[in-house]
Amino acid sequence: MLRGLRRAEPAVRADVLEFLARHQSADLIDEIMTTSGLYVGPLELLAQQEMALRGWYGLSWPTANGGSGASTAVTTALVECLEYYLAPRIPPTAEYVAPMIIRHGTAEQQADWLPQILDGRMHVALGYSEPEAGTDLASLRSRARRAATGWTLDGEKVWNSHAHRCTHELLALRTGSVADRHRGVSLFLVPIDLKGISYHEIETWGDVRTNRLVLDGVEVPDSALLGEVDQGWRCIVGALERERISLGTSGHLLRLFDEFIAAARWTQEQGRAVSEETMNGLRTYWPRLLGCHRLAVAAARRVDEGEPAATEACMLKVSTTELRSEFAAWAIVAASRFQQLPPGSLLESLPEWLYRRAPFHRFGGGTNEVLRDIIAQRGIGLTRAADPALAVDR
Ligand SMILES: Cc1cc2nc3c(=O)[nH]c(=O)nc-3n(C[C@H](O)[C@H](O)[C@H](O)COP(=O)(O)OP(=O)(O)OC[C@H]3O[C@@H](n4cnc5c(N)ncnc54)[C@H](O)[C@@H]3O)c2cc1C
Repeated sequence: MLRGLRRAEPAVRADVLEFLARHQSADLIDEIMTTSGLYVGPLELLAQQEMALRGWYGLSWPTANGGSGASTAVTTALVECLEYYLAPRIPPTAEYVAPMIIRHGTAEQQADWLPQILDGRMHVALGYSEPEAGTDLASLRSRARRAATGWTLDGEKVWNSHAHRCTHELLALRTGSVADRHRGVSLFLVPIDLKGISYHEIETWGDVRTNRLVLDGVEVPDSALLGEVDQGWRCIVGALERERISLGTSGHLLRLFDEFIAAARWTQEQGRAVSEETMNGLRTYWPRLLGCHRLAVAAARRVDEGEPAATEACMLKVSTTELRSEFAAWAIVAASRFQQLPPGSLLESLPEWLYRRAPFHRFGGGTNEVLRDIIAQRGIGLTRAADPALAVDR
């Protein structure tokens, strides 16, 4: 089942099929489900190395930067397919950070960082959020100050996911005044093992390890600054469309659905009936799942055609991530209604795994409440209901 990949070049399709034939196994799926939020296990590492060797980390990058120049449609289809087979995902560093470097980095930064990302040696943790700056990121206070030979960094970041297994940090830091809001923020990309950087574990319910990060007089050279001083916001926002499309892919949900279909068929072949509630649920969820899949195709196509796609990316991300929570919660109950599951069925583990990680998808890449505001304003031309001065019916 390659769904969206049908639209990809035959060479990409063949590459994916060959990769799956070599790496896909129940052991890899088990390893990913039990460890991937915490550390990279040996099977996942092997699969990741092979993905990097096949050039998938740079699939969407321009060929001038060492990538394959594939369309957003093909990249999105690959992400969906990897999700469907519960394979490792393309690392966020390759998917969201590298395009920032390609767009805003100097020639030296590109020459230094991109080859390391392409072959999987460089992994970047995103250091945006702070204890008092989450959704309202423009109020962040951690600072970068000019020093004799570069910059000195001080402050605290929170929810710094995977820092413990990353080689670098991408830090959003205040270089202007706090009153400047998003106009006084700059980005710095620094090795994580610099003197003055420490991180401390935060355990989460979704089995994803995230961290509190402390910056204590960290000295970095000018070459750590990514983009212009005070222009970091532009870089961050520019990467969000791609991230939202990626978070909105429905490979995991399509797989969960297909696991139910397989279990239902097997149950019927055994001469037992499948509960009416389960059949009704599947009939209800199928068109919604297909809708999300098609929204992803449409959003990717708009990007490839050079059309503005911010609204479509938000609609996709909100729809898929909320369906993810709802469908996974339903699946936990529905899976327990089967007296017996077919051998190798993922219904024992997949529903809970998806359910526990679902909250992250709802606020990652921008919380859904704020994305709804964007859809309302840009997509349907409504003013912000939260601001009484702008309410349309005053
Ligand atoms: C497991 C995990 C991993 C994370 N990983 C990272 C990471 O790697 N790097 C990183 O920088 N950050 C990361 N984050 C932070 C994440 O992006 C923030 O949690 C998110 O931006 C929300 O910020 P907050 O927690 O401060 O909540 P708040 O901003 O306080 O929001 C709380 C609630 O209020 C709602 N709300 C807030 N503002 C508005 C508004 N204007 N309109 C409508 N509703 C609103 C929100 O939707 C939310 O439900 C992670 C968080 C978690 C829990």
